[in-house]
Amino acid sequence: MKSFDDLLNAPRGVLIAGAAVLFITLSFLIAASDLDLTPLRRLQTSSIGTGGTVVYTTYNPLAILGLAAIGLAIIGAFAALFLTLLPKLSGRLGGGTTSDRVAKASRKLDGEMAKVLELIRAHVTSNSSYAKSLATAQTRLAGLTEAEQVRVIVSLLVAENERMRRDSTELVTKLEDARKQVEVLRTSLDEAQEVVLQDPLTGVGNRRAFDATMGRAIIDCTQKKTPLSLIICDIDHFKRVNDAFGHQVGDEIIKMFSRVIESGVRDGDTVIRYGGEEFAIILPMADQDAAKTVAERVRRAFESKKLTIRETNQKVGQLTASFGVAQFRPGDDTEALVQRADAKLYDAKSAGRNRVAVYGT
Ligand code: GH3
Ligand code: MG
Ligand code: MG
Repeated sequence: MKSFDDLLNAPRGVLIAGAAVLFITLSFLIAASDLDLTPLRRLQTSSIGTGGTVVYTTYNPLAILGLAAIGLAIIGAFAALFLTLLPKLSGRLGGGTTSDRVAKASRKLDGEMAKVLELIRAHVTSNSSYAKSLATAQTRLAGLTEAEQVRVIVSLLVAENERMRRDSTELVTKLEDARKQVEVLRTSLDEAQEVVLQDPLTGVGNRRAFDATMGRAIIDCTQKKTPLSLIICDIDHFKRVNDAFGHQVGDEIIKMFSRVIESGVRDGDTVIRYGGEEFAIILPMADQDAAKTVAERVRRAFESKKLTIRETNQKVGQLTASFGVAQFRPGDDTEALVQRADAKLYDAKSAGRNRVAVYGT
């Protein structure tokens, strides 16, 4: 059995195989239309003429073959289409520029596979019933010596049909195997995506996540005409904390600040570690007043923390942070909004720190 990688690396071979199934099926149809039907007609006439059962007239093997061939042609077409689609989508998986595009492509691929598998399964089931009908016809015709020619034809048809049914079943098995592998791939992609967008120290989003989330938020608020605000905040005099207590304590304070921010925001808001001790909060559905309220809540929560270093029992002293708030305006891009929030953060620092400054007020 071919591995998933083999399938990805052999798109042409697979396409040719799909086309071949289609070609053989169509050729068979054409050939069938040229068969000498005289023995069959004679059989039908004599059955009716001698008062034989009318059952034989309903078992027209060529009609059954036609239906089976159409079924197989559809299977062949879907298989060729699917296997052509597979490498294309997989190509996108490999060449994606951002992780969410990768995840989207992966989900799309899985969805396509499930649909195609369902179709093929349905066709294999109906194809099996065609094979059954042909076998029944063959059994009944076997006892009639004058229908020898018809019996031979039907035997061939049954054998051919059975071979094609086996091929189709094998195809479904291969496709199911590929689908399982894609599921594994999708899980790894989801995990990788999380890692790629996460800040390792605090667990909140990183700059990459910021760009992606802001891009989506701007499109969303423009379409829905809803407000969107951005808060940028930064721990005051953090360099002093690092100098006095060391980098490790500094790291713990950054982590604690991120938790304070996360506790102060709503579910739909996104917290990002924007730089060393600088964080951004994206607030969809919030105007600048609502964003100011959030910033004030976080500021107060942070300044109220009383930290002591466990090992040395040293008090860290009061920690504070400054906040800049700006609301999205039509025509803004991420950079424009960041610039306005950043300008207000600078103002908050210049005005004495531990405060919130809002753009336009
Ligand atoms: P201000 O009030 O103006 O913000 O003063 P500040 O000292 O906080 O600002 P500044 O940007 O001068 O210093 C930030 C410091 O944060 C400098 C850098 O050493 C420290 N820093 C940046 N990233 C990390 C980090 O991941 N861990 C730790 N412990 N310190 C960091
Ligand atoms: Mg600082
Ligand atoms: Mg800073």
